[in-house]
Amino acid sequence: MVKDNCIFCKIASGEIPSATIYEDERFRVILDLGPATRGHALILPKEHADNLYTLEEETAGAAMKLARRMAIRMRERLGADGFNLVQNNGEEAGQTVMHFHLHLIPRYKDDGQHILWEPRKASAEELEETRKQIAE
Ligand code: AMP
Ligand code: ZN
Repeated sequence: MVKDNCIFCKIASGEIPSATIYEDERFRVILDLGPATRGHALILPKEHADNLYTLEEETAGAAMKLARRMAIRMRERLGADGFNLVQNNGEEAGQTVMHFHLHLIPRYKDDGQHILWEPRKASAEELEETRKQIAE
């Protein structure tokens, strides 16, 4: 299903033109308009889901398989030295477009980007408490 007024639904369906680098029945992969690095792309499922929580499990698996294929191709074609996959859910996590998308970000030596987090310190108690909350 397509959601009214969703820009990524319109891009995924082809209603709004985009720099498409791959397309099949379920996905369109486009170049990001505000790229972190050269080649930064987005995997868009054609079926609308707001985020990872509501994405069909099967589509989630297919998106990761496609990410792998795209990463191999982009690394080779663009001469990337590394590659980040990024996927944001919720405003607090940096999601600005509420249609699930997976960022494909080729990395280059000295590209000046900072995509990884600042590690904090965690006590043994925090780790154990958190482990219990999730695992039990
Ligand atoms: P996020 O912050 O994870 O929601 O990522 C949204 C991404 O979509 C950003 O990297 C934007 O640069 C990108 N973006 C927003 N609108 C468009 C558009 N019309 N075409 C291509 N990329 C877009
Ligand atoms: Zn949508």
